[in-house]
Amino acid sequence: MKLAGVAVENAAFSFDKAFDYIITDELAQKAVPGVRVTVPFGMGSKKRLGVILTVFEGENRKGLKKISSVLDEEPLLNAEMIEMVFWLKERTFCTLYEAAKAILPAGINHRMVVSYTASGNKEAAQGLNAAESEVYNYIASKSGYVKRDAVLKALGLSSDCKTPDDLVKKGALFCNMDAVRNIGDASVRMLSLNDEMPDGVRITPKQKSVVDFLTDVGCATVKEICYFTGVTPAVPSTLVKSGAAHWVEFEVLRTPKPVDIERDETVIELSAPQQKAFDGIKQLMDAGKPEVCLLYGVTGSGKTLVYLKAIDKAVADGRSAIVMVPEIALTPQTMKRFRNRYGKKVALFHSALSAGEKLDEWKRAKRGEATIIVGTRSAVFAPVENIGLIIIDEEQEHTYKSEQSPRYSAKDVAKFRASKNSCLLVLASATPSVESYANAQSGRYSLQTISTRYGSAELPEVITVDMLHEERAEGSASISRKLFDELKQNLDNSMQSILLINRRGFNTFVACNSCGHVITCPYCSISMTYHHANNRLMCHYCGYSEDFRTECPECGQKSVRYSGFGTQKVEDELSKLLPEAKILRMDTDTTTGKDSHERMLKQFGEGEYDIMVGTQMVAKGLDFSNVTLVGVISVDQQLYNDDFRSLEKTFSLLTQVVGRSGRGENKGRAVIQTITPENSIIRLAAKQDYEEFFRTEIKIRKALIYPPYCDICVLAFIGENEIKVKAASQQALGMVMDYTKGEYKNEKIICLGPRPARVSKISNKFRYRLIIKCRNNRNIREMISKILIDFGTKFEFSSVTVTADMNPESII
Ligand code: ADP
Ligand code: ZN
Repeated sequence: MKLAGVAVENAAFSFDKAFDYIITDELAQKAVPGVRVTVPFGMGSKKRLGVILTVFEGENRKGLKKISSVLDEEPLLNAEMIEMVFWLKERTFCTLYEAAKAILPAGINHRMVVSYTASGNKEAAQGLNAAESEVYNYIASKSGYVKRDAVLKALGLSSDCKTPDDLVKKGALFCNMDAVRNIGDASVRMLSLNDEMPDGVRITPKQKSVVDFLTDVGCATVKEICYFTGVTPAVPSTLVKSGAAHWVEFEVLRTPKPVDIERDETVIELSAPQQKAFDGIKQLMDAGKPEVCLLYGVTGSGKTLVYLKAIDKAVADGRSAIVMVPEIALTPQTMKRFRNRYGKKVALFHSALSAGEKLDEWKRAKRGEATIIVGTRSAVFAPVENIGLIIIDEEQEHTYKSEQSPRYSAKDVAKFRASKNSCLLVLASATPSVESYANAQSGRYSLQTISTRYGSAELPEVITVDMLHEERAEGSASISRKLFDELKQNLDNSMQSILLINRRGFNTFVACNSCGHVITCPYCSISMTYHHANNRLMCHYCGYSEDFRTECPECGQKSVRYSGFGTQKVEDELSKLLPEAKILRMDTDTTTGKDSHERMLKQFGEGEYDIMVGTQMVAKGLDFSNVTLVGVISVDQQLYNDDFRSLEKTFSLLTQVVGRSGRGENKGRAVIQTITPENSIIRLAAKQDYEEFFRTEIKIRKALIYPPYCDICVLAFIGENEIKVKAASQQALGMVMDYTKGEYKNEKIICLGPRPARVSKISNKFRYRLIIKCRNNRNIREMISKILIDFGTKFEFSSVTVTADMNPESII
């Protein structure tokens, strides 16, 4: 009889596998590999979602259940993707369903809901026929949008009735399409006040602050409410129970706005160094073999133009292409560039798209309408076939590694796809990761280099300011005299400046001057940050906040001191130092709205601001020719954290941000403020000398045995009971020791720890980690899997979550 192997949702890792189900005759046509199904699961046979991975002939046996229903007309996963599901499980220690879910678009569990409202256009509503009038009058009699289903039902019309659409065409109605979540309950809810407060409801002060806030803003998510009022998430719920407010139930997601495409058909004229790099890439593409090429080009060398040429070639060869850019660098600039050049052939895969938009773009790729995929990490799973080229821009960026299950690296997935499609993978950067550059040196990757900026642009001149000795600008704690002078000069010359400060908030450290008590989050082992915007102390890890205070909670003295600066403080100081300057602050507090990031960058590009102050998000990828000054307020924090990658990250950040300056006709400057000007990383970044950086860094990695001289697997232990968490981590160390003495004795490993993570408690959960230096091979992965499965079945550790991450971005 016909059986299917099904990946089932919410299966625990310790018993996860492809579960066998019977395919009944009625479902035989539709139940093929790659479709989603519902299946009865577990003791109670509750319905769960699943994906068919295999179909085979097998024997009926006791307890075998039947597939309940098939959800898709056509498979969502092709053979390559199904193979990838198994590959992801083996590589990243996730369940098969988690792997399938990562590959499928987020919007897949949504359905589209169409609704209409009267347009208010009186002329268009003239001269309607009887059927149209009936529909029009019904909709016009309602306030707001009416769902299509409701209209059809109320008027007894058939489901394929075209009348409402005709009215939309005539301009009498507006139509709206929303995606609503079909299965599950993970949607974002917004709270909105009821029109009238029910009688006899007593409102606490906390609830009052929420009511006042909602009166101001209309509706808000729980997260926003908590940020601005400091209440806990329980307060909004109480308001709903008492009848004062209600949830706006479904996540309402708009389908993509039609974008204007200004057809760009300019012929790209590559410069000589660009042409040389492109020729190398072209040759590798023609070879039609799985290959990796590192494109190392300094900031402003015009790597994008080389990408475009290479994509042109893939298109001419009749093959598809995937281009990935880091999260923060997927600017409207980049998207527009691709859209203008390739029109509808481009599909965007971006985490900031709504679920409905994601689904739409995914479908266009799946149907073969879009063959050029531009996007962030998840674009690597785009359902395109016959891939001719994959490009990963700024390949060293940490956003290419997923921090949640499945903990995959987009670079590894891209290699998998390159090998399945026999195509070229291009890793590009001005500051490649040490691992990639080492691979290029050893010949495992081929290397193309562009060592000069495009055209007449030169690399900026960099000034290092010693903050221990240098004077500050009048009344400022964060800005030196030198940086101030440069900013002033740029302002006078109508040039723009970018300032980097990699912490958000106002004051980043709050402590008592009398007793030394540091104000930390009660739930996390991290100090609180003062935010000016809401006048509160905030925890950046769990979102807890409390009122601004001057009195110490420990000793009661009025001597709490606020120090350390974040973006808000720098913005504040600047506005006093340069009152005539128009300042734009960009950090995750100012860019929460869906399009605000995009809007801000557009305004800055149009010259509406003089200075942009922000976190990492201003450091990378931006290309504004009018920016001739970059200032780094401080990076010392980043430089001295204990992660083995912190030097590489600081070097990259500095080089990248400095590279935003002087990209146009005017020469650029950069000012780096630091308390350790003699530090070699700062010196090398000032010179933009990547090769020298690499030579020193690779020596350190070799001496201390870090990647590329080993792989690192981090086992993380998380739970509320610290004793159990610690015990679990120690037991894991014992297991690793036993395994490497016995079954896996040929594997060489070095264990560090177990020890508490740098932030040892988040949201009241303790975190321990065991660092295993090893070789990422099948044996080691099998051993790690066994350990995870073991923990999954240990009752004594049921309160401890154990996860494994192979080559995580950070090990602290
Ligand atoms: P990178 O990504 O290497 O830092 P970009 O690709 O952003 O550099 O290019 C820097 C600037 O130089 C961009 O404004 C780009 O349009 C321009 N540029 C680079 N190469 C060319 C070229 N061959 N023709 C025209 N403009 C170019
Ligand atoms: Zn916290």
